[in-house]
Amino acid sequence: MFQSGINDKAVETFAAREREVFLQRNPKSIELAKRARKSLFGGVPMHWMNDWSMPSSLFVSRAKGARFYDVDGHEYIDFCLGDTGSMFGHSPDPIAKALAEQGANGLTTMLPGEDAIIAGELLAERFGLPFWQMATTATDANRFVIRWARAITNRKVLLVFDGCYHGTVDDVMVRCKEGRTVHRGGLIGQARNLAKTSRAVPFNDVVALETALAKGDVAAILCEPAMTNIGMVLPEPGFMDKVRELSKKYGSLLIIDETHTISTGPGGCTRAWNLKPDFITLGKPIAGGVPCSVYGCSHEMAQAMRLAQQHASETSSGHGHSGMGTTLSANALAMHCMRVNLEEVMTQAAYEHMLPLAARLADGLRGLVSKHGLNWSVTELGARCEFQFCATSPKTGAEAEAAFHDSLQMALHLYLINRGILITPFHNMTLCTPETTAADVDKLITTLDAGLSELLVIPG
Ligand code: PMP
Repeated sequence: MFQSGINDKAVETFAAREREVFLQRNPKSIELAKRARKSLFGGVPMHWMNDWSMPSSLFVSRAKGARFYDVDGHEYIDFCLGDTGSMFGHSPDPIAKALAEQGANGLTTMLPGEDAIIAGELLAERFGLPFWQMATTATDANRFVIRWARAITNRKVLLVFDGCYHGTVDDVMVRCKEGRTVHRGGLIGQARNLAKTSRAVPFNDVVALETALAKGDVAAILCEPAMTNIGMVLPEPGFMDKVRELSKKYGSLLIIDETHTISTGPGGCTRAWNLKPDFITLGKPIAGGVPCSVYGCSHEMAQAMRLAQQHASETSSGHGHSGMGTTLSANALAMHCMRVNLEEVMTQAAYEHMLPLAARLADGLRGLVSKHGLNWSVTELGARCEFQFCATSPKTGAEAEAAFHDSLQMALHLYLINRGILITPFHNMTLCTPETTAADVDKLITTLDAGLSELLVIPG
């Protein structure tokens, strides 16, 4: 029996009915899926797009604000928002304008412009770290900071928390199983043994963390201040302070990945909880949905980075390759959009709208859990909240994973999709935008309520 308390046979009956509803409802998407299979590997431009709950791809025609529309003309309230890339709504007006402005004025030159300086100044003010670098994806930002950290400390090991996700960065693709670091399942084409230079320990486990750091070979801890990719796992009171204290004690750097936890407020958890990392990384919504990412560092780190650069140039001849940066990193289009996003979109006022809506959503979810007598929990972090199929919010990645009931999760997601609502796939996370309304939130709750009522009367 799953921790969810729901019988899998009933889930399958419910899911089969919903798959049929989807196929009937979306003839144009189904036509496009057939055509796509002839030119796109797997019928999609990026293979994860096949991992949703739908029996065939749902093709989008356009998206604006908290909504998107499919090619069959259905409207959806979007609580997934490109898994955070569009956290401030699809195509916010200032970003659409910024795209048009920069679109006619040069997209990429490999030279800086004033926009980058203004963005740097705004980031420094907002996050409290003085120096910034720009890249294109959060994956890139994390990869580059890991390199800096190894160069600065002259140590090789990266420490991460079990169940983490920080992008498609080799070094983070590890899990902790029975106290040992092993490769995470599902990797394709993995050539080197990651366990030699990466170490995974459970989140919220101070003893395991200290034991892993005490070996004295950890260059950096890379973590989200609250885990958001294996279901949400919040830090226990004082845990993040302990992470900072122990990283200092053992000479390891602290890198905080705010890519998802930026849902907490305009300065992420770093500002809200007064965290003092050596580096911050952040991508996804930072330029309003235009590909862009950033990393920031302290004065001390900037000085150490200069020394690392000096050292590298002394030991190489000709044009050195740092192993960091890509040609389109910090391109003019991204810089302009990021500047405008920081100035006009990702504002305190936006969060003041988003946070109470997420609280309303979490309250509604708790109401459903109690009404249907489910042993489930609801976890909140700023504009983000999630229901999990376990009685109390998980404390570690392993606990969060043990509560997974994939077929149930997918069946409920598909039920919502068939009724015009999208939530984040792979677990049960929702996000509210500055354009989400209380009525949108209430529609999610009443639709989920109806779905649960239908599911729970199916005999197992
Ligand atoms: N960090 C975190 C915390 C993430 O959740 C993700 C993506 N889900 C990334 C980094 C990587 O982002 P991207 O795929 O845009 O590189």
